[in-house]
Amino acid sequence: MKRFDYFAPESLEEAVAILRERGDGGKLLAGGTDLVMQMKEAGLHPSYVVSLRRLHELRGIAFDERQGLRIGAMTTMAEIEQHPVVQRRYPVLVDGARILGSIQTRNVATLGGNVCNAAPSADTAPPLLVLAARVDIVGPGGRRQVPLEQFFTGPGQTVLGRDEILVGLAIPTPAPRTGAYYERHTPRAEMDIAVVGVAALMALEPERDVIREARIALGAVAPTPVRAPEAEASLAGQEPSEEAFGRAAELAVNAARPISDVRGSAAFRRHLVRVMTARCLRRAVERARSQA
Ligand SMILES: Cc1cc2nc3c(=O)[nH]c(=O)nc-3n(C[C@H](O)[C@H](O)[C@H](O)COP(=O)(O)OP(=O)(O)OC[C@H]3O[C@@H](n4cnc5c(N)ncnc54)[C@H](O)[C@@H]3O)c2cc1C
Repeated sequence: MKRFDYFAPESLEEAVAILRERGDGGKLLAGGTDLVMQMKEAGLHPSYVVSLRRLHELRGIAFDERQGLRIGAMTTMAEIEQHPVVQRRYPVLVDGARILGSIQTRNVATLGGNVCNAAPSADTAPPLLVLAARVDIVGPGGRRQVPLEQFFTGPGQTVLGRDEILVGLAIPTPAPRTGAYYERHTPRAEMDIAVVGVAALMALEPERDVIREARIALGAVAPTPVRAPEAEASLAGQEPSEEAFGRAAELAVNAARPISDVRGSAAFRRHLVRVMTARCLRRAVERARSQA
């Protein structure tokens, strides 16, 4: 690692001021599980690093029935995994958080870091996309909120300006009879990144077994995590059935633009999208039916 200046600001304002004064070449540090690896092994040499660890306003999980869930950017995967409200009302987020890395990784890896690192394979991205999460950003111009769908612009790229900080994510309260499920395929059982990740959300009509709205998000098959709009539209107004899931799974493949690499060919990834989408839709419906 090359030498760099290190800052540990005590407030968000101080952190933004450092980024503004020092300008290009800096990096924010959350849990460091991506950043430190990139500095040690991937040729990343920031001239300065700003730690977010002392910024208490970036921590914690709060839930309010009307306003929904708010998760601070510095909240760790372990905290998400173990939070009773997240477990009960947002299990799809637990699906993503609990498989990330090892116990040691999850104890330090943050939600903000997973989102801002913007890997196409990030395990919390598809769950957050189907939950219609919005990101809260603070910079010299004040606060702004961006739908997560518009946040990712390419591999490792986001809409964040160089002096902006992601402070947290806001997720609406799910309607009754809504369920969502995430799974990924990895060659190894754990400590591996997704070859494909799929999240599906199903919102059923209050009184009838009819799909009111479906959302599907795919990871690791395009330069950014993506939604599958054609597949989603094909499900609205339908009764949940294997036929409807199969049709949607075929259409989900159209949203994928996979590459071939050492971890799997593009054709294999398309096949996985088809199989996993149908399975996730099935499991999302099971969860929706179990929610009052
Ligand atoms: C052994 C190991 C296993 C892993 N397994 C998985 C896995 O299974 N699935 C998976 O998705 N990932 C995995 N990862 C990657 C990594 O752990 C996650 O992406 C993690 O959530 C990153 O969070 P962090 O707090 O460590 O981020 P950091 O490394 O601190 O930061 C990551 C990037 O985001 C920026 N950043 C961080 N916080 C903010 C913020 N609040 N505002 C603006 N920018 C910010 C940083 O500047 C940096 O560019 C693994 C990593 C390791 C080392």
